[in-house]
Amino acid sequence: MKITMLGTGAIGYPLVFCNCKNCHDARIHGGKSLRKRASILINDDLLIDLGSDSQTAMMMYKKDMSKVKYLLQTHIHTDHYDQGLLCARIPYMAMKNHPKLEIFAHPTCLKIMSKRVNEYEKADLISEDGSNTLNLHSNSINHGESFEIGKYKVKAIDSTHDTKNGSLLYLICEKNKNLFYATDTPVLTKTALEELKGTKLDLIIMDHTFGDVDYSYSHLNEKLFIEQINALKSIGCIDDKTIIYATHISHDGMPYHEKAEKRAVKLGYHIAYDGLEIKL
Ligand SMILES: [Zn+2]
Ligand SMILES: [Zn+2]
Ligand SMILES: [Zn+2]
Repeated sequence: MKITMLGTGAIGYPLVFCNCKNCHDARIHGGKSLRKRASILINDDLLIDLGSDSQTAMMMYKKDMSKVKYLLQTHIHTDHYDQGLLCARIPYMAMKNHPKLEIFAHPTCLKIMSKRVNEYEKADLISEDGSNTLNLHSNSINHGESFEIGKYKVKAIDSTHDTKNGSLLYLICEKNKNLFYATDTPVLTKTALEELKGTKLDLIIMDHTFGDVDYSYSHLNEKLFIEQINALKSIGCIDDKTIIYATHISHDGMPYHEKAEKRAVKLGYHIAYDGLEIKL
């Protein structure tokens, strides 16, 4: 399994219109400190989150969006979903030789995704007509459900990040290698831990929106990130061989990349950066 980090920022970093010290430093340092909105590509065909920066990231890292066959959507927040990219599947925009796109999302999230596309292109993601027009197929999934897509085994994991509109985390297995992509998320629920129990993770990429601050809202800060790692260790999901990366980095308590990485390494994990490739 090859994972490409297309974006590792929370709404992007430096934050648009912000000139706090961290955003200022990130602009000066450039490189790994500049973060697009969070999404990842697995091999060439499985995308997690189709966001406003996905297309730019695919071009930057020499990836081909037309090869993407599967989309796992975590949730509907604007830093994770851009309906405009799905609208571009409409036939008059010269769509040729695209593979059919299989979309997976929480039922409520899927309905909102569909509504947003329909507002622009009068084609939705759910009806037979809309699906045929856009050459895709949508799948409503709930946490705890496991399913196979091509060579991947996927399990949807419980999330309370956006309970109103539906949100999910994803466990993905290919050739006996397990990845848990856990953003956006607050503290993992008891249900999530039960759903993960019994799976030895080779790689975890988890929400670390906030750094050394005492607030976290519906995300994780440094203290809570470490607590989640320890909780996963206690149920046997993480051991010394598990690769641990933090993502969805914001300017709130998270400095420019090199400084953040130095601190993270001392604490036993790494900070992901845009363009990073991880092979399992
Ligand atoms: Zn987000
Ligand atoms: Zn800032
Ligand atoms: Zn979110």
